[in-house]
Amino acid sequence: MKALVYTGPEQLEFRDVPDAVAGTDEVLVRIHSSGICGSDMHAYLGHDERRPAPLILGHEAAGTVVGGALDGKRVTINPLVTCQTCTHCRSGRANLCAKRQIISMQPREGAFTEWVAMPERNLVAIPDDLSFDKAALAEPLACGWHTVRLSIEALHGEAGTAKALVIGGGAIGLGAALALRAFGVASVSVAETNPLRWPALEQCGFAILGADTVPDAGFDLVIDGVGYAATRATACRAVTAGGVIGHIGLGESTGGLDVRRMTLQEITFIGTYTYTPDDFRATVSAIASGALGSLDWMQTMPLALGAEAFQDIRAGRMAAPKVILKP
Ligand SMILES: [Zn+2]
Ligand SMILES: [Zn+2]
Repeated sequence: MKALVYTGPEQLEFRDVPDAVAGTDEVLVRIHSSGICGSDMHAYLGHDERRPAPLILGHEAAGTVVGGALDGKRVTINPLVTCQTCTHCRSGRANLCAKRQIISMQPREGAFTEWVAMPERNLVAIPDDLSFDKAALAEPLACGWHTVRLSIEALHGEAGTAKALVIGGGAIGLGAALALRAFGVASVSVAETNPLRWPALEQCGFAILGADTVPDAGFDLVIDGVGYAATRATACRAVTAGGVIGHIGLGESTGGLDVRRMTLQEITFIGTYTYTPDDFRATVSAIASGALGSLDWMQTMPLALGAEAFQDIRAGRMAAPKVILKP
């Protein structure tokens, strides 16, 4: 089969690799759409020691099942493979499983290829009228959905009257903003400094703020979809007394938190990682029902041109918040 193989920092080769083989309790999925994630970019730049070359990246994928009980079904893939037996898995928080694996990290190859082997339980069927490209957005959108759900649960007061700010207008930030709206939050602003990203945000109807126009203590709910020291500092400044910060991005591991203000103003900070299996399914339903909007802000490119797509994103030439590669 053909695959886009990460062979070293800023190097990708479209080449033949051995065919994927389904293990016990696994089926093969013929990949139709596979999105490029910020974490793929991170690995591509050689910054992720958990993803050494050579490796097939990509974990946001949709396709058709071959074999097993779901044979022939159109599905989107939950890429987190977990043990099913630990306390976290049994309590519905499989994303915290100590044995979790994700495709695109050894021992599991990623989805920038034609076939991927997955446990059947990781596959969520999609309606016939939902495109594979939109179905491949389930993974990144589920990250925002999960953060928004946890943040709203921690909020004192009604979601409907809350004022929310999302920091970062890439796919994660935009997804979080769309999830906030789907959860009934009417007032959603997005802080984004890159003008290339404004059209997609405007198209979705969000108010856009610059880094210096975020008001102090103006928001009950702040989602940091970037995760640098500077964005955490903005989140700590922008959140109201008693408010909630939901943290998805992890650009930098430390810095930026104003612990004094968080303590004296009783600000809740929630670290979030991916999504629970229930959040993933809820996100697929929301995509299918249109609750997350038309989702036509992604751009597609042939998998064979994947190296160019990565270069364009790297050089800041890509306006679309999400690029989907098509084998
Ligand atoms: Zn991702
Ligand atoms: Zn587990």
